[in-house]
Amino acid sequence: MQEFDVIIIGGGVIGLSIARELKKNGVERVAILEKNGVCGKEASSAAAGMLAPQAEADKADDFFRFCQESRDLYPQFAAELLEEKGIDIELDQTGTLYLAFDEEDLEEIERRFEWQQAAGLPVEKLDEWDIAAVEPNLSKFVVGALRFPLDWQVENKKIIDALVRRAKNEKQPEVVPAEIDDLLFNNGKVIGAKSFYREFFAPVVVIASGAWTSLINYSENVAESVKVTPIRGQMMTFTSPNLNYGEKLFQHVIYSPRGYIVPRRDKRILVGATVENVGFQFGVTGAGLASLLEIAFEISPQFRNLILKKTWAGLRPKTPDGLPLLGEYPENSGLYFATGHYRNGILLAPITGKLIAEKIAKGVDSPFLKIFNPSRFVNNS
Ligand SMILES: Cc1cc2nc3c(=O)[nH]c(=O)nc-3n(C[C@H](O)[C@H](O)[C@H](O)COP(=O)(O)OP(=O)(O)OC[C@H]3O[C@@H](n4cnc5c(N)ncnc54)[C@H](O)[C@@H]3O)c2cc1C
Repeated sequence: MQEFDVIIIGGGVIGLSIARELKKNGVERVAILEKNGVCGKEASSAAAGMLAPQAEADKADDFFRFCQESRDLYPQFAAELLEEKGIDIELDQTGTLYLAFDEEDLEEIERRFEWQQAAGLPVEKLDEWDIAAVEPNLSKFVVGALRFPLDWQVENKKIIDALVRRAKNEKQPEVVPAEIDDLLFNNGKVIGAKSFYREFFAPVVVIASGAWTSLINYSENVAESVKVTPIRGQMMTFTSPNLNYGEKLFQHVIYSPRGYIVPRRDKRILVGATVENVGFQFGVTGAGLASLLEIAFEISPQFRNLILKKTWAGLRPKTPDGLPLLGEYPENSGLYFATGHYRNGILLAPITGKLIAEKIAKGVDSPFLKIFNPSRFVNNS
C-alpha cells in the first residue's frame, strides 16, 4: 500500500505544473500516476507551443481573461525553470500575425481588431507594405494582417524536460507507472485511486488525465460533469537547412484563418493543425497531410523548397462547452479536476498549476475555480 499527500493522475504539462507548484507550497509527498510510465508524451508534446490568447479568442470573456493571466505568468515561469532546472524553454516574444487573403478574411480581421481595441488590448493593423517589411517571405496574396505583440510561443517539449528534470537529491514528485481505472472513496470523501494491479492512497486526488479523463470510472454525477472528448490534431514540421546560424525565414507565429505556422529557434517550422473528432486514433492521414500542406502553401511559397522533417498527431482534451474543468468537486471532498484544456493547455499550464496547488495547500479560492468547476454541467441540467 502506498500513501501520499496528493496523487495526480496524469503526467502531462498540467499534472507536472501542479506537482511543481505543490512543492513550492510545501506539499511533500506527491505522486504522479502515469499510464505511459514516462511523463509528457501525449498532447503536451504534440502541441505547437503557441501562447495566443488574442489570436484564438472571439470575445473578452472569463476564459479570455484566464488565458491572459496565464500568458502573463510565462516570463517568470520561464525564468524560474531556467534557474531551477537549467533548461531554457525558448519563450519567444516576437508576437503573432493573423493574415487575411481576401475580402472575407479582411472582414474577419476588422471584426477582431474592433473588439480587441475596444477591450484595450494591444493589437496593430498592418497593410501589405507593413507585412512585406516585417515578414518578406509570406505569400504575395496576403492583403492585410493583425499583429498581436503579446501573443508569444515556447518550445513545449522543453517545458516537459524542465518539469521532469529533478534537482540533485530531489525525490519528489514520484512518477509511478500506473493506469488508473477507479477512484477510492470513504463516505463521499476521496481516499485514493486504483489501477488493475495496485491501490494508492491520499486525501487529495487530482485528475489531470487530458483526453482520457472520461475513461476513469466515476459516480453518476461526476461522470455527467466530466465528459471529455479526444480531438485529434495532426501536425507537420519542415526544416530550412540552407539558412545561416541565427537566420530565420519567419519571425512571428503566423496564423491564417485556416491554420498556422510556428518558426522555432532551431530552424524548424511547424505547421498545424487539423481538428478532428475521431476518438482515440493517433494516425496521420493523407487528408490530414493534404490540409496541412494547403495551410503552409497558402501562407508562404517558401514551403515548396523546405525539407519535410516529421509528422505527428496528438489528442486535445475537449469538454462540451470547450472550457476547462478546474477545481474541487463539491460532492466529493478532496477530488480535484484539472483537465479539458483543449487548444490551450500549454498556455494555461502555469495558472492551472498555481491555482490548483494554492487551493490544495492553503485553501486559497480563485474565482476561476468556481467559473470552471466541473459541477457547472450538473447545475445547468
Ligand atoms: C496538435 C496540437 C497542437 C496544440 N497546440 C497548442 C498550442 O499551440 N498552445 C497550447 O496552449 N495548447 C496547444 N495544444 C493543446 C495542449 O497540447 C493540451 O491542451 C495540453 O497538452 C493538455 O495537457 P494535459 O496535461 O491535460 O494532457 P496530456 O499532455 O495529454 O497529458 C495527460 C496525461 O495523462 C495520462 N493519463 C491519461 N489517463 C490516465 C490514467 N487513467 N492513468 C494514468 N495516466 C493517465 C496520459 O498518458 C498523459 O500523459 C495542442 C494540442 C495538439 C494535439
